[in-house]
Amino acid sequence: VRKFFVGGNWKCNGTGEEVKKIVTTLNEAEVPSEDVVEVVVSPPFVFLPLVKSLLRSDFHVSAQNCWVRKGGAFTGEVSAEMLVNLGIPWVILGHSERRALLNESNEFVGDKVAYALSQGLKVIACVGETLEQRESGSTVAVVAAQTKAIADKVSNWENVVLAYEPVWAIGTGKVATPVQAQEVHVELRKWLHNNVGADVAASTRIIYGGSVNGANCKELATKPDVDGFLVGGASLKPEFIDIIKSAT
Ligand code: 13P
Repeated sequence: VRKFFVGGNWKCNGTGEEVKKIVTTLNEAEVPSEDVVEVVVSPPFVFLPLVKSLLRSDFHVSAQNCWVRKGGAFTGEVSAEMLVNLGIPWVILGHSERRALLNESNEFVGDKVAYALSQGLKVIACVGETLEQRESGSTVAVVAAQTKAIADKVSNWENVVLAYEPVWAIGTGKVATPVQAQEVHVELRKWLHNNVGADVAASTRIIYGGSVNGANCKELATKPDVDGFLVGGASLKPEFIDIIKSAT
């Protein structure tokens, strides 16, 4: 019942020319149908209109962030309303790079997720532990606290995809093993079951991110609680198509 989800987070990368090239590659790719896999690409803000205008209609576009509340005097920010106005259906929130580099707290991320949902956006909400936290045995406590801060503000989970992205696996080439990913996904689903509800736990997609590539995606995808991927570096390359194909 949980449709496989593959997101490409382009982060702060690309020129107009490079973006057009990536979109052309995606547009020409033969991939499983929209009934089987939901594909979402997330370019930097400035390229959203370009990508939206060029991208095939069975793939969707996401922003990488948005402001926590209604727009206004918030220099440098982009509001959820603006994304809706532009016809952008998705937004990534709570990415570990923003949590770490821009000091986004669990509560702030929870507020952002709630506000974005209230405006009609769908949200890829990211959680994940650092290496230090994993080594001290607090992985489950950390991702549970991050998820709780979202659940405290959100009652309808229909438009939420939860992305488990261990910080130590992001951009490091050190992918979580399928067993490690499955372990945490099960814990997250248990947490949802116990704290939000059985239906939400059963229907919410929990996707994995962190050094996913064309070679390691297939085995990760066989794990029953890995419902897809959030891909960074490899989403800028043709191998993103192989990752989409791992849905089947
Ligand atoms: P990498 O795939 O480059 O490790 O990045 C993962 C990520 O942060 C996706 O949001």
